[in-house]
Amino acid sequence: MKRVLITGGAGFLGSHLCDRFIKEGYHVIAMDNLITGDIRNIEHLFHLPNFEFYHHDVSKFIHVPGELDYILHFASPASPIDYLKIPIQTLKVGSLGIHNCLGLARVKNARVLIASTSEVYGDPTVHPQNEEYWGNVNPVGPRGVYDEAKRFQEAMTMAYHTYHGLETRIVRIFNTYGPRMRLNDGRVLPAFIGQALRGEDLTVFGDGSQTRSFCYVDDLVEGIYRLLLSDYAYPVNVGNPSEITIREFGEEIIKLTGTTQQLIFKELPKDDPKQRQPDITKAKEILGWEPKVSRAEGLRITYEYFKNLPEEELYKAAY
Ligand code: NAD
Ligand code: UDP
Repeated sequence: MKRVLITGGAGFLGSHLCDRFIKEGYHVIAMDNLITGDIRNIEHLFHLPNFEFYHHDVSKFIHVPGELDYILHFASPASPIDYLKIPIQTLKVGSLGIHNCLGLARVKNARVLIASTSEVYGDPTVHPQNEEYWGNVNPVGPRGVYDEAKRFQEAMTMAYHTYHGLETRIVRIFNTYGPRMRLNDGRVLPAFIGQALRGEDLTVFGDGSQTRSFCYVDDLVEGIYRLLLSDYAYPVNVGNPSEITIREFGEEIIKLTGTTQQLIFKELPKDDPKQRQPDITKAKEILGWEPKVSRAEGLRITYEYFKNLPEEELYKAAY
């Protein structure tokens, strides 16, 4: 049985990855300090003999007994309000955390896949973004703590690949959504759905003309699984190219939820990227991958999930 370590395993994406690797017959070790994750995301796996959970901060030395075939480094605060509230931990998990994972991988002779992000492109001047674009990031702006940690993480991973010959993979993830997102994580989809469910107006930042391209979580997990098993060590974008303005997205959520509330406009956060859309030519060619779930279908499933949460979840503050 192949053994995989998933850091950030109790988070939104990490928990879906745990499910997928369990389904594929792996022994899965999830590691998480629960700073933005939730143990309930993986509780359903606890009874399995091929699942283990380690409550541990990966920015500190990592010890895992036994062999490891793969390490997936997904631990990191991921939403703007999370990484603005815990900026130092964000920088540490992207730097010290990946260093620990890479060191562990050398000892275990394991392959490492890191969760990078479309944020490495910053506020992009090239559209859509392909992997050759170097990005436009403000290192000392509010988002710098996340963007630069992820850029450092890519550089560190590449250095272990070229210098130590370690097997590495880099996925650049574009905005992904689905069940198990935290309703109060501040990202636009849970924010809008939470507001609709509470009977509040939906807060559009700026004039809502900025764009994003939303990928359903199952599609993302499939892309990551294929990349891990591929032999390609350079970064690959995985996301859904279907692009939409945030204003139109708000209107879609109003329709989906049937709320009688409306869009209201608030100040745009500093350095908020104006446009974002993945060029997925590489993923198509190298992985034979493209997204399958339409936004209408993905949003329907996600709304069902949020609607069925206990009511007190709706009123929990972010921290
Ligand atoms: P999430 O906050 O739900 O999950 C992150 C998990 O990492 C949480 O469970 C958290 O407790 C854990 N964690 C954070 N710091 C840790 C540490 N020092 N030690 C151990 N565990 C720690 O966020 P997510 O959306 O699931 O994101 C997962 C990964 O994917 C992140 O690396 C993020 O940067 C990346 N990513 C996500 C998206 C997206 O759209 N969801 C887009 C781009 C990149
Ligand atoms: N956004 C918004 N209202 C909200 C939350 C976010 O208009 O309540 C906007 C935000 O300014 C950004 C887009 O939605 O332009 C996506 O934000 P999110 O935090 O989900 O992701 P990211 O900016 O990291 O892509």
